Amino acid sequence: MFNFLIVWDSGIDNRVAKMIGNAAMECAGIFPNCNFHVYGTKRFSDTVSIDGLIANAKMRNGQVNAYDIVDGLERMDWKMLKNARFHMIVFTSRDLYPDGLPVNFCFGIQLHTTILQSVARYRHLPDNELQACITHIMCHELGHMFDAARGRDNGLVKIHPIYADHCEHEGCVMQQMSDVNCLRAMALSGKRGKDRFCLNCSMDMAFKIGATRMKVRSNCRIY
Ligand SMILES: [Zn+2]
Ligand SMILES: [Zn+2]
Repeated sequence: MFNFLIVWDSGIDNRVAKMIGNAAMECAGIFPNCNFHVYGTKRFSDTVSIDGLIANAKMRNGQVNAYDIVDGLERMDWKMLKNARFHMIVFTSRDLYPDGLPVNFCFGIQLHTTILQSVARYRHLPDNELQACITHIMCHELGHMFDAARGRDNGLVKIHPIYADHCEHEGCVMQQMSDVNCLRAMALSGKRGKDRFCLNCSMDMAFKIGATRMKVRSNCRIY
């Protein structure tokens, strides 16, 4: 069983928070063997907050370096969390850039057991579209965590290595997203539920997520 702790910074307002909770419930219906614990800004450590990690991260034109936040989280010695083997999904209201990569922003990144997502570029959208975008990126980053499209030659890798580990199938959630319009279009497209992932990506994930053990229904709890 995978346990995900979902937290966010103080810039996430109540409306966005509600949509994150809804998106987590959607993900619980898509991924087996996963529990989502929606903590928000509630205290999960005496000394650590997402705001604190952001304050210590490198900046570029008002954007925050995504890797600094994730590194900070991975370095923390949270005995309670690590004993419980929690994975983290962190939301921020700040715009992110991945330092060292040739792109000017990122919607989210995944590293080891941590996922970081920014809502900065689409938080203004109406509820249903906002929720669709949050769910889409959460599915995409969970896909990376569970090895969907890992090592796949999607034909774009020769353009730049950044395109590796993404899917070539039209409408699959593991396709690369280049801007807000493309994210919104994909999030609102016909594919829903388990069909968000193409068959190849579903097969990739099956090994890691539990094809060899019994599939257990996932839960989402909002604290
Ligand atoms: Zn990706
Ligand atoms: Zn795919």
